[in-house]
Amino acid sequence: MTSGTFTIRCARIFDGENILDDGRTNIVVSEGRVVDLCPPDRAPGEVIDRSRQFGLPGLIDAHFHAYSPSLKIAEIDVLPRTLLSQYGRAALEGALSRGFTTVRDAGGADEGLWTAQARGLFRGSRLYYAGKALAPTGGHGDFRGQFSGCACGCSYSGAISRVVDGEDEVRRAVRDELRAGAHHIKLFLSGGLLSGGQRVETQQFSDREVLAAIQEAQGRGAYVLAHCHTTGSVERAARLGVRSVEHGSRISQSVATQIAEAGAFVVPTLVAFHVIREHGRDRGLPAAIIDGADELLEASKASIRQCRSAGVKVGLGTDIFDATLHPMQLMELSLRSEVDEPLDVLRSATSVNADLTDTHGGIGRLRVGDRADVVCVAEAAIDNRKRRLDFAGNLSLVMLEGAVVPSSRAGA
Ligand SMILES: [Zn+2]
Repeated sequence: MTSGTFTIRCARIFDGENILDDGRTNIVVSEGRVVDLCPPDRAPGEVIDRSRQFGLPGLIDAHFHAYSPSLKIAEIDVLPRTLLSQYGRAALEGALSRGFTTVRDAGGADEGLWTAQARGLFRGSRLYYAGKALAPTGGHGDFRGQFSGCACGCSYSGAISRVVDGEDEVRRAVRDELRAGAHHIKLFLSGGLLSGGQRVETQQFSDREVLAAIQEAQGRGAYVLAHCHTTGSVERAARLGVRSVEHGSRISQSVATQIAEAGAFVVPTLVAFHVIREHGRDRGLPAAIIDGADELLEASKASIRQCRSAGVKVGLGTDIFDATLHPMQLMELSLRSEVDEPLDVLRSATSVNADLTDTHGGIGRLRVGDRADVVCVAEAAIDNRKRRLDFAGNLSLVMLEGAVVPSSRAGA
């Protein structure tokens, strides 16, 4: 942690909601917090000169998987935790170096990875975790496949997901994940692309099972996020009271209105589909999955437009599996700016994601008293007129609670 008071001198500041237009360009930090935003002539303490750069809050990735070494999720799910935790550490360190000062894990990351970081064994992005995602027998997240069920008929639990059926098992699993410190609970409400031969159109869990999960989570101050590709699954999520709709790949206008009325968030993950479309073949994925990713990418863009016009709170996630593809994480901002105003994309990645994920307060905005999670990026990386966001390679500073991330200094 950098001690004492210091100033980051920027060209302009985006505070998580707007670009400041009142002449304040300096961010003053002390003891890990923002203590002032002021004009160029006031710069207490040491000055970090980024006077040709935009200063903005650290980015938040609301759909991340720390345990994601490859695109073959069924193979990941049976790897030893000791091996996965090494991948998890690298994934969190990498995300932090790319300016994602906070990530919300959507299945896999657990109390062990969180505690290793809390004890100072490594420093990566601040982590909110779900523990294991919950799936019904035969659903997305039941990675046993057709021929690998157990002869005794017992259930399944892997590294990323566990199988539960019926209200009682759902309640018990939710309580168990929360016992282990989960910040939120993940359910699958539709099929998924990477679960091998299963159609995304399948419906998963009964209404009563979903309601049981929501009730248990809410009772302990947590909430549910639900994987939903189809408009039918999104409709169920909104109707039943799910707080965070993941992917939301196909959302009709009427369902978008329903989500807005329910006050739920949608977290699109465009780059997840993009990496499968571009790299799936090299990684040995079947053509059907690559075609499916292409369709879901285009459908997701249309859904974002429906959500925006209905006034839905739209967050931002990435969902990249394959450790060699994690460096493409910032491409989510570029892909989103093809359908969304650049400032709206930045709001999604900062203040909106903070409202969704943050249970402690003080992230996603640069206000006096907030945590000094700061990213500096070349001014040219944010082009409102051309509707372009190009952060990859343009970051020159990443700061987590007032401490500069060493690997982020390049390009200053
Ligand atoms: Zn995911």
